[in-house]
Amino acid sequence: MKILFVSSECAPFAKTGGLGDVVGALPKALAQRGHDVRVVMPLYGGQPSLRWDELPQLEGALTVPMGFGPVRCGVRTGRLPGRDGPSAVRIYLLEHKGWFNRPFLYGSPTEAYGDNLDRFAFLSRGALTLCYALNWIPDVVHAHDWQAALTPVYLNTVERDRPLHAAASVLTIHNLAFQGELNPRDLWRAGLGNEQLHGKSLEHFGALNLMKGGLWHATFLSTVSPSYAREIQQSAFGCGLDGVLRERAGDLRGILNGLDDDEWDPARDALIAQCYSRDDLSGKVACKAELQREVGLPSKSEVPLIAWVGRFAYQKGIDVVAHALMGLVHEDAQFVFLGTGDLKMEQWLAELSARHPQRLRIVSGFDPALAHRIEAGADFFLMPSRFEPCGLNQMYSQRYGTLPIVRATGGLADTVRNYNERTGSGTGFAFSELTPSSLYDTVRWALDTWWKRRPHIDAMRREAMGLDWSWSRFAGEYEQLYKDAYARRRGHPWRG
Ligand code: ADP
Repeated sequence: MKILFVSSECAPFAKTGGLGDVVGALPKALAQRGHDVRVVMPLYGGQPSLRWDELPQLEGALTVPMGFGPVRCGVRTGRLPGRDGPSAVRIYLLEHKGWFNRPFLYGSPTEAYGDNLDRFAFLSRGALTLCYALNWIPDVVHAHDWQAALTPVYLNTVERDRPLHAAASVLTIHNLAFQGELNPRDLWRAGLGNEQLHGKSLEHFGALNLMKGGLWHATFLSTVSPSYAREIQQSAFGCGLDGVLRERAGDLRGILNGLDDDEWDPARDALIAQCYSRDDLSGKVACKAELQREVGLPSKSEVPLIAWVGRFAYQKGIDVVAHALMGLVHEDAQFVFLGTGDLKMEQWLAELSARHPQRLRIVSGFDPALAHRIEAGADFFLMPSRFEPCGLNQMYSQRYGTLPIVRATGGLADTVRNYNERTGSGTGFAFSELTPSSLYDTVRWALDTWWKRRPHIDAMRREAMGLDWSWSRFAGEYEQLYKDAYARRRGHPWRG
C-alpha cells in the first residue's frame, strides 16, 4: 500500500513526546512489511539533532494554496535512520523559515504561537500538494493529532474533484487534551469556507477545533491504547469531544504503541555506561553507579533509585508526586527527575532537592541521551498519570529492567502487570486512586519489596525484560485498519 504520514513530529528529526517516537518508528515497521510509506513534516530550525543544511533539496519549489494566496516553499528529503534499501522510509520536510525557524515547535512554555493555524494548515495542505508534485497518490493518508487533523478535512472538501479524494484517511489521537482550538474568524486563512463551521465539522462551542474536524472527516480513527479508546468516550476523559467519539465508536480502534528496537534495547544501547540483557544484569549495576555519579547522588548500589523522565505536567500527576515526595524523601531511597514543564513546579522540586541533596536530584531540560541513562540506571520508574493515552516510558522501563510504578489508567493499565506479592509475578506496581497517600503507599510497597523480597524484584525484572513491545507486533493492526479504511472509501476491498 502507498501510505502517507502527515505529522508535526518525527524522531529523531523533531520530537517533544510520544508522537515523535511513534512517527519515527511505525513507518519503518510498515515498510518492512512491504508498504511504500512516506512521511511529511515541517523543517524546524533549532533542532540540534537535525543538520538540515545537509539534507538534499527536492528539485523545484512547492506552491501550497492557502486562503490568503499561494505560498512557495522548498522541500528537503531524508530517510528515517536504521533501514536502508527498499524498506527505507522517505521523509519530506517542508521548508518555510518564517513559520518554522523558531525556538519551539508549538509555542513557548506559557503561550502557543498566534499563527498556529497558518503553520499547520500549511503542513496539512502542503503534504497533499507534495503528492501531486511527486506524482504519487497514496492509498491511505495517516494524519496525527490536531496539527495534521485538517488533512482529512481537505480530502473531503477542496480535493473533492481531484485524484486525492480517493485516498482513505486515518486520524490517530495521541493525546486528546490538545485539540488545536483556534479563532473561527481565521478559518478562511486555511482555504476553507465558513460552511465548515458547524458541529459535525470544525466548530466546537463557537471555537474552531481542528481535532474535531479531523474526528468527523477521517475515514477511520485510532488512538494509542485499547483502554484510552474506551476512556475517551466518557465525559471524564473525552475533553469535550466524547460525544463525537461515541458517535464514531464503531470506527475507532485502540492500538498500542510499540517501541523502536533500534533505539531502545539495553543489549545494544550505545548511550549507556554498559550494555546488559535479561540473562546478565551486571551491566545494570554499572549503569546505576554511573548515573548516581553523573547526577551527584551518593554511589550506593544497595539504595533503591526511583526515576522520573517526562513533562512536569498536571496530566502526568506531578502535583501528586510533589505532595508524596515530602514524605518519600525521608525514606532510604534516592530520586532523580528529568523533565521540563510547569515552571513553578520545577522551582519547587529544585528547592526540595536543595534541602535533600543526598536523596533527590532534579535535572531541568529535554535530554534524550540522559533519558536512556536514567532508564538503564534506575531501579524503579514513576508514572502516576492522571490520564495516559499510551505512555512510552513505562515500556522503555520494562525493557530496561526498571520496574514502573504507575496509576492504572489508559495505556499504563494495558501494559503494566501489577505485582502479586503471593506469587512474586508482575512487571510493576499499580494503584488506582490518584492521591498523594495512594502514591506514597505504592512507592512504599515497592521499596518494601526491594528490601524484604529481593528475589521477587529479580523475577519481575526478568519478566518485564522478556516482554515484546516491538512495532512488528502492532504494525499488523495498523495494516488491517488501513485496509478497512481503503475498503470504506473505495467501496471495494484492497487488492494488493
Ligand atoms: P508524552 O505524553 O509526553 O508524549 P510519552 O510517555 O508518550 O509522554 O512519551 C514521552 C517521550 O518523550 C519519551 O520518549 C520520553 O523519554 C521523552 N521525554 C519526555 N521528557 C523528556 C525529557 N525531559 N528529556 C528527554 N526525553 C524526554
